Amino acid sequence: MGGIRKEAIYAGTPVSRGIVFAPVHVMARGFSAPEVHPIANVTRETERFRDALSRTKRQLEGLQEHMESLSGNEEGRIFEAHMLVLEDPVVLKGVPKAIEDRRQNAEYCFYAVMQNQLESMRRIPDPFFRDRTTDIEDVCQRVLRNFDTEHEEPAPDEPDHQHLLVAYDLSPSTTAAMDRHQVLGFATERGSITSHTAILARSLGIPAVVGLRNAVFNLHALDPCILDGYEGKLISNPTPETVRKYRELEEQHQLRRAELDKLRDLEAATTDGHSITLSANIEFEHELDLVDRSGAEGVGLFRTEFFLLENEECPDEEKQAALYSRVAKRVSPSEVIFRTLDAGGDKVPGEPLSEPEPNPFLGWRGIRFSLDRQDLFKEQLRAILRAGTSGRVGLMFPLISGVGEVRQAKSLLSECMDELTERGVEFNREISVGAMIEVPSAAMVAADIAAEVDFLSIGTNDLVQYTVAVDRVNPRVAKLYRSAHPGIIRLIKTIIEGANQHRIWTGVCGEMAGDLTLLPLLIGLGVDELSVGAPLVPLVKQAVRLLDFEECSALAKQCLEASETRQIVQLCSKAAATTYPELLQEASGGASAPSFAAHPA
Ligand code: PEP
Ligand code: MG
Repeated sequence: MGGIRKEAIYAGTPVSRGIVFAPVHVMARGFSAPEVHPIANVTRETERFRDALSRTKRQLEGLQEHMESLSGNEEGRIFEAHMLVLEDPVVLKGVPKAIEDRRQNAEYCFYAVMQNQLESMRRIPDPFFRDRTTDIEDVCQRVLRNFDTEHEEPAPDEPDHQHLLVAYDLSPSTTAAMDRHQVLGFATERGSITSHTAILARSLGIPAVVGLRNAVFNLHALDPCILDGYEGKLISNPTPETVRKYRELEEQHQLRRAELDKLRDLEAATTDGHSITLSANIEFEHELDLVDRSGAEGVGLFRTEFFLLENEECPDEEKQAALYSRVAKRVSPSEVIFRTLDAGGDKVPGEPLSEPEPNPFLGWRGIRFSLDRQDLFKEQLRAILRAGTSGRVGLMFPLISGVGEVRQAKSLLSECMDELTERGVEFNREISVGAMIEVPSAAMVAADIAAEVDFLSIGTNDLVQYTVAVDRVNPRVAKLYRSAHPGIIRLIKTIIEGANQHRIWTGVCGEMAGDLTLLPLLIGLGVDELSVGAPLVPLVKQAVRLLDFEECSALAKQCLEASETRQIVQLCSKAAATTYPELLQEASGGASAPSFAAHPA
């Protein structure tokens, strides 16, 4: 089908580098787009549509009975609401009319009619209508599956061939569960650079673009596409000329990557000998292969929540200790820093909250959750302590807002040591303990926090969101998310000074650490460690090796005096562009993520 359709370009925000050539699989909000093809027999297609509706109705009646027999109450009535959707004239009359007018297969006409209907409903500000769209999406998915009459079991949603996934939105957990061999890249209409979905894509090396307008509605299943994760484009039905251009580009990028891979065993030190510890951020054990290849010096941030929240039930102490020990052994002699559970925000716990929080990023998240659920927290702490006998291990607490939380967490840690001693289980008392600084109040009292811990790690993704009051996953305000805001730069300076007072090290593990434009500034401000997604390590290492520490310090001084984001961006862009123009080009796209949304002209 693709050959007939014209090339179309959708522009979005690049969040993870790479170029992908593949047929597209479209996942609308809640349901996937079927293939489209012309038909000759309108009557037959209309019958197929009616059959699919009847099958769906029978299933819904069955489900309703089943629910009522289980719960003995009226819960089965939600399926009645679903059945009403099937009786709506928009469906009963609209779909046959669309088949007649468009002369396209029934499932595609049904899909198109329902998408139109849903789009109109989503625009109505009344929450009643917005809520109803979820019901309708659910029914649509069921009807679409019921067009497949050959199988007792409905066809699976995901294709069994390599594809490029285009979706309205993707949750971090769906992204984490993606089959890397089948999903070669993805593009979404929603999303932002510092959402966990984008962070995961970068960590796993899956090319990705977010914020594409209208792609879901306009693309057809199996359309041949090119995803450009450098410039943030999706090109459907590309012409042979476009394909050739992208093949050449891909070759150039591969050559540059091969050059950077040669840096694997070299040190991340500036031309005048100032060393930086360059480590990797990971979410899964299997990423350790990428870490090995990247030349990172250990793991600066292990986001444990993906492992802990994967299933309904949190893995117990034994399972956690086994995983953490394997990781520690593998990373040894370098260090791995486990970040304790950071549930909440855009990472939902397996055990759903009784009611959704109005502002999840300001809600029950990070250390707050752990201090309230001490049973879970202590299980994790004991598991990390035990892993300390297998290699160099550190742990850090997320979303600290003041020194009291650190003291409380540390006191639970020492209770865990006593418990392990009592049980006669081996552990390491000397593991390093750090605090993540990602809340402005914590940044302001960084010196007090530094007195309690062995290191500070700045989580800029959250520090920026909370300081400039911009939701990190809301595309509507993405352009206001400014890492280079003078307020942020001054806070980072305060944090580093606080750490220096107590002679402990400061790292940056948010996405800003991989922002090549701001790198000279971070180094000049005096950060000791940078932790970035493994695929970014070679780029950042090469950049560090080209910088001069004295010049970076002078730049930091100037930036600390600037009163506008614009001035800081200009100063940093100039420094970066004169030192490593070709690296900036290679990093364009998701690589140095915040350079885009964060540095408006
Ligand atoms: C951060 O906030 O910068 C960070 C590293 O943690 P996360 O992105 O998981 O919130
Ligand atoms: Mg954070």
